[in-house]
Amino acid sequence: MLKFYKIYIEIKGKTMSKSNYNEELWEEIPRFAYMALGRRGREQISLRECFIPSCNSVDEDKLHPINKEKESKIVANGDAELQKLKFLIHCDVCKQNFKLIFERHLNNKLKNSESEEKKIVLERVFATNADEKENFGEIGFIQQN
Ligand SMILES: [Zn+2]
Repeated sequence: MLKFYKIYIEIKGKTMSKSNYNEELWEEIPRFAYMALGRRGREQISLRECFIPSCNSVDEDKLHPINKEKESKIVANGDAELQKLKFLIHCDVCKQNFKLIFERHLNNKLKNSESEEKKIVLERVFATNADEKENFGEIGFIQQN
């Protein structure tokens, strides 16, 4: 009896949590970040892994974006903008959530650029725990196209 009960709970939990996932958010999350290595060039770091230090799973099929938040702050009399794109991601391996936070520095003086992406002068990414109280550190910078 106990065995059947356990199986039921597991299936229910799986179905419930799956409905919270937004897999299409992967399209907005770059696949790689880069770390400058001085004269040795740069190291490519996959953003399809769990950044919770006790886990560090590299199984991307076990990662599921949940939501996205955007914060924007206009600075330098409107000439510049600081944006934060925050993606909450669930890891099936450690069963915890973490955030990938992209910090974008935009130059709003580039008026001729039609897209927001083209105004980006610098974009860095770091990881935190779910409530952003614990910073897991900077991962690297994002190469703009
Ligand atoms: Zn994990």
